[in-house]
Amino acid sequence: MSVCNDSGLSSQRTATPNVFLAIAVGFQGQRMAVRKFSGEMLAPGSAQGGLVFLETDFTLLAPWPSQTGGIEQELNRFEQHIDGLVDELTETIATLEAETAHTEAQILQTHLYLIKDRKFHQDVCREIRDNAMSAEAAIETVLRRIMVVFEQSGNSVIVERAADIRDILTRLSRRVDREHRTIIEMQEDEGAVILATRELLPSTVLDARHSRVVGFVVEQGTSLSHAAILAKSLGFPILRLDDLHCLQEFSGEETLLDATEGSLLIAPDVAEIAARSAYLSARRRIDRARLPVSLWINVADPSQVTPELLRTVAGIGLYRTEVLFMEQTDDFPTEEQQYRVYKSLFEMCRESCTVTVRTADIGGDKVLPYFPLGPQENPYLGVRANRIYREHPEILISQMRAILRAGLYSRNLRILYPMIGSREDLSFIRQLLGEAIRSLRARGDAFRGHFHQGIMIEVPSAAWSCSELLELVDFASVGTNDLLQYFFAVGRDDPHISPSYRTHEPVALLLLKRLADAAACASKPLSICGELASDPQLLPLLIGLGFEHLSVDIHSLPLVEEAALGLNVEECKRLAARCLNAGTSQDVRILLNDSGLVRKHPGARPPRPGQPVDPICHELVDPAGVGLAITRKGRRIHFCSAECRDEFYAREKSAHQNLTYTT
Ligand code: PEP
Ligand code: MG
Repeated sequence: MSVCNDSGLSSQRTATPNVFLAIAVGFQGQRMAVRKFSGEMLAPGSAQGGLVFLETDFTLLAPWPSQTGGIEQELNRFEQHIDGLVDELTETIATLEAETAHTEAQILQTHLYLIKDRKFHQDVCREIRDNAMSAEAAIETVLRRIMVVFEQSGNSVIVERAADIRDILTRLSRRVDREHRTIIEMQEDEGAVILATRELLPSTVLDARHSRVVGFVVEQGTSLSHAAILAKSLGFPILRLDDLHCLQEFSGEETLLDATEGSLLIAPDVAEIAARSAYLSARRRIDRARLPVSLWINVADPSQVTPELLRTVAGIGLYRTEVLFMEQTDDFPTEEQQYRVYKSLFEMCRESCTVTVRTADIGGDKVLPYFPLGPQENPYLGVRANRIYREHPEILISQMRAILRAGLYSRNLRILYPMIGSREDLSFIRQLLGEAIRSLRARGDAFRGHFHQGIMIEVPSAAWSCSELLELVDFASVGTNDLLQYFFAVGRDDPHISPSYRTHEPVALLLLKRLADAAACASKPLSICGELASDPQLLPLLIGLGFEHLSVDIHSLPLVEEAALGLNVEECKRLAARCLNAGTSQDVRILLNDSGLVRKHPGARPPRPGQPVDPICHELVDPAGVGLAITRKGRRIHFCSAECRDEFYAREKSAHQNLTYTT
């Protein structure tokens, strides 16, 4: 199976069945006329596979086993199930609390109370004793009885509680039948899968690597969530639709997911598949020397990197090492494990390029299953990166030892520290580096003594004191994902408030310009490694603001290259100057659109006659798409993204704005 990204890069993915598909459901219904859906790209690329929903609804796998070992054994099995469920729920509650999902955690807390309830235990034991039931059948019988009482209560609040019972039963059924289902999967299912799920979590993306999943369709999340960043990096396209229900009747159907275009096509015919392949293979190879900016790549997992890819970029601008930590299930990766992974990457880069290794940025939404950080009001403002190392310095010291030992195999090593907010933060990290070096010397281990040190500029205080901090380091990289989140006080993961995440706001551009100026003045290399750098539409602006190095997501690389081709730095500077003087982000968008420097749809197919145009960004939109179209005065208006649609609503509200649109 191959996962093609719009990059034209094609990554071979081995489809391994796993528990993912164990909870997949099929649903065949009436075929709808519409078979193309439009949505918002959260991660670029395209993939083809059968549409599978991650089930969140209740199904039972009864009949349960009959009582085989007698009453005592069934009573024991009942206790084991309850202990297992208690552990599972407690762990999930801790994770939810850590993610500040307090409401969800509280719901699970009520499940916990229920299964620990003394009356519930008495009733189950009675069923086992008096009616010779197996543990599972007795649990289900008692829970169903409670469920019926709830459902028939006539009180809407209590009726809702029946769902809690269904949830417990679903958990129980998964526990009992997990192994069986996986075996069925291995025997029967072979094909690639496009997974439809309401919300994508980083752990789901990581698990997907060892499954048949080749792409995602989701309802929640933004392109800045770590799940999306990981997916981008690992080559999984993600499309967000406003409502997944419209897809339900196509469960099991072959689908062509083109997240870059923002479309999902159900049951594509041969011609449609062939057109897609031709489009991908027609991508041009770009001569890097002709680009006005040096392009680096962001890496989440060294296995994504190939020598061929490395030959085409300036280097690795961001290696997110915390992903290695997130992949572990039981404990931190040992120094030895880390050493081996880093060494393999450094060896691959030795010939041609520089590697920028970021020390583990744990916390925020990057949770480690084996290292609960406890309940936090807001994890993004809580215990993250350096703050963890104040309590647990050994985590960073052992990582630094591994990096420096493996560094012997690299030609150009740069170490990047995340979430630095002050000189004090930096000197604390340097103290730990000193300890790592001392311990390596004491052990008599060989290590690399010469390397560059840099900081992420992603905390507003670091941006504010950029000039002073730059004096202390060799280079810096702007983490726009976090910087803008903290700058505008808007969560980077929340699609409901994403219009407030204002990438085009003149004040944000001014912030970036000041950083670029400070770096130029200090003669220190500065790059952007946040997702902004991977947006081809923003490229002329970033170049015009003075950025000479951009580190982009691997799968966005060809789009960014193509957008960069032929850009003139002086023209970009003039555009940036106009944008810096603009009043609003909307004015900036218009200036960008009118500049002639932004390629509408880089690499896209030519427009068809009568094809609608997004009235906000003027991109071509597929009229067959649904979900992002609205009707005004009998006319259908199509949008390329929810953001443009929201802009449209905003403008509509504003009496003095006049919209013109073409259909
Ligand atoms: C950023 O904040 O822009 C960044 C690159 O770091 P991360 O997305 O991993 O937090
Ligand atoms: Mg960050």
